Amino acid sequence: ARTPLMAGNWKMNTDLDEAVALAKAVSAEADKASGVDVAVCVPSPFLIPVKEALAGGKVGLGAQDCHWEDAGAFTGAISTSMIKSVGSDYVLAGHSERRAVFGDSDADVNKKVLKILAGGLKAILCIGELKEERESGETFNVCATQLSEGLAGVDAAMMKDIVIAYEPVWAIGTGLTATPEVAQETHAYIRSWFVENYSQEVADAVVIQYGGSVNDNNVDDLMACADIDGALVGGASLKADSFGRIVNYVK
Ligand code: 13P
Repeated sequence: ARTPLMAGNWKMNTDLDEAVALAKAVSAEADKASGVDVAVCVPSPFLIPVKEALAGGKVGLGAQDCHWEDAGAFTGAISTSMIKSVGSDYVLAGHSERRAVFGDSDADVNKKVLKILAGGLKAILCIGELKEERESGETFNVCATQLSEGLAGVDAAMMKDIVIAYEPVWAIGTGLTATPEVAQETHAYIRSWFVENYSQEVADAVVIQYGGSVNDNNVDDLMACADIDGALVGGASLKADSFGRIVNYVK
């Protein structure tokens, strides 16, 4: 049985006071939940204060991006060893905003994934199709390419530290959530991709989150789908009551 993961992606939001208050509120909400893992992926300057705010609770900490080199002349970048050294558990890789705004290619995403795993962290690999790609029937092909290129060099044993987040780009920040049926169809495809390219065992174990306009109203129906193992939440993760409701989804 897979333990679902509810992760907040705060993106480029909050200031220090808001970050600490939100982290404390999320920790209190997570304390009420059982059978679910919870994490928050926060802006880099707030990793340390959020870690302190989460102390003693069960919410994991994540960064939103990293570089694939160890150290050196990479102005503005942060390394996985930095992220690990401040007590993080997760790093997002390949978020659609990184791909679209910052030009992260599948090859870049792959280097980040490998570095995250080598650094003793868990990678949340984000994949998903654009609106045009869905309309032209390319959804499964796009996911397959992002999986095979993003996971190049990741063997079955390393898969225990990989979470997949399926985030259809047309559903991110738009209020247009995929219906549970549409999301489940792609999640089932992604799981079948793991059967084909890894093994039934790996496919059964891998946590596949859905992301894209998840909120307190749609989370229960999404979570009722067989292959949806949690959510990667943007906007609604910035509101403690909404994210609290998501963490405490009705099973
Ligand atoms: P929204 O929940 O705001 O649509 O964002 C989803 C997302 O991109 C999470 O990584």
